[in-house]
Amino acid sequence: MADKVYCMYCGTDRSSIQSLTSAGTCSKSPTGKHVPYDGDEKKKYFCEFCGTDRSTIQSLTSAGTCSKSPTRQHQPYAGSEKTKFVCKYCGTDRSTIQSLTSAGTCSKSPTGNHQPAR
Ligand SMILES: [Zn+2]
Ligand SMILES: [Zn+2]
Ligand SMILES: [Zn+2]
Repeated sequence: MADKVYCMYCGTDRSSIQSLTSAGTCSKSPTGKHVPYDGDEKKKYFCEFCGTDRSTIQSLTSAGTCSKSPTRQHQPYAGSEKTKFVCKYCGTDRSTIQSLTSAGTCSKSPTGNHQPAR
């Protein structure tokens, strides 16, 4: 269990989910509230929509606009690191998130892009 809880939209951290969700307004969340990231702590965080990586959630979510995300923001992939990433909609697989999300159009995804399953 991680000793810190991070907001998946802005990277704000608190020691518990309760204190994070009551820590004021989140400027980057669609709901205006911080939403706890429920994945593992990692050395690198990858955007699940485009594969951009940064060493913290905060720097990832503030790393400019994501052309493939429905919210226009990079969002940290919450799954574990793998040797193969599989699209949760169609099953296409690639060795990195970046190559999966740029592997053409996904006919089964609501966004038209492949998205890695956890
Ligand atoms: Zn937030
Ligand atoms: Zn992105
Ligand atoms: Zn797909």
